[in-house]
Amino acid sequence: MKANIYDYSRDALAEYFLSLGSPKFRATQVFEAVYRHRIIAFGDITNLKKEFRDKLKEDFYFGSLSVVKVLVSEDKTQKYLYRLTDGNLIETVLMKHDYGYSVCVTTQVGCNMGCLFCASGQIKKIRDLTPGEMVMQALTIDDVLRKEGNRVSHVVIMGIGEPFDNYHNVTEFIKIINDVKGLEIGARHITLSTCGIVPKIYEFSQFPLQVNLAVSLHFASDDKRSRYMRINKVYNLEALFEALHYYYKKTKRRITIEYILLSGINDSLQDAAALVRLVRGLNCYINLIPYNETGMFKRTKSTQARLFFDYLIKNGINVVTRKEQGHDIAAACGQLRIKEMICKD
Ligand code: SAH
Repeated sequence: MKANIYDYSRDALAEYFLSLGSPKFRATQVFEAVYRHRIIAFGDITNLKKEFRDKLKEDFYFGSLSVVKVLVSEDKTQKYLYRLTDGNLIETVLMKHDYGYSVCVTTQVGCNMGCLFCASGQIKKIRDLTPGEMVMQALTIDDVLRKEGNRVSHVVIMGIGEPFDNYHNVTEFIKIINDVKGLEIGARHITLSTCGIVPKIYEFSQFPLQVNLAVSLHFASDDKRSRYMRINKVYNLEALFEALHYYYKKTKRRITIEYILLSGINDSLQDAAALVRLVRGLNCYINLIPYNETGMFKRTKSTQARLFFDYLIKNGINVVTRKEQGHDIAAACGQLRIKEMICKD
């Protein structure tokens, strides 16, 4: 069976070429053609011998995503709804910042984590995405930006799915987009967000690239966290924070703690105090996230959010409030996909 060329990191491709008796540097040539020159037919890689191009044609194909819909919000955030070759729908968000363009990538079709406040988990995981399906999300958008002289400069792995439930494919994806012959996105411009799959946090501490790690904490006591996030019943806060301390010790990379403010649920000053106790001593910063209302929860009012924020500051915690984007186009994880599926049924 033919393989999608976008599924391959340069190392994986080199290994394959070596097994065919071709030199390793062929992988670099192919990468340059595919990612730098955006060639989409092997016959067009003219610096390769005809026989080698024919061999490539036999073994590989260029995958693609079809764009079903692009929604543009007032703040210029764009949401792409893509259809995969097997018919499944995924979504990718493009955000414009003063520092560049970031793309929020989906890692799975659906999600099994079942966090109660998150739209993605309303539909169970159907399958993992391949590295190439993640690469194509960024590449398709980068192709559009290129025409305007811009590029994707940042990637956040925070779309539908739990990246650590698809560890191998996600780390291969990171290698491809980070590769200087690939999309050349600096490791420090790549952020992966997990709900807290503890063994994978240990594994990720060995990952050679300096990628940012974000953790969806959202609740500072086991009692509350287990009520809204099933993962906490498997890996509780003690296990999670032990892993995070280890991760910091190993990598010396500051961790981002994500905290959605949910009205009347986790936004009191007692919650803030519990949060301060929990993160004390960990080199991290807290990202307070305005909730995108998707059903049963309400977002925290701005006056209360301010009190919560000030409490953290007063206690010497690094905290930022995430700027909200794409509110009017259902940019929260999984929202658009669900809408589209419901409309279709
Ligand atoms: N599974 C990963 C990554 C995907 S979710 C994780 O849990 O981190 C990315 C972030 O968006 C998480 O912090 C998640 O909790 C948050 N999120 C989910 N639904 C949201 C909503 N409706 N409004 C705001 N943030 C949301």
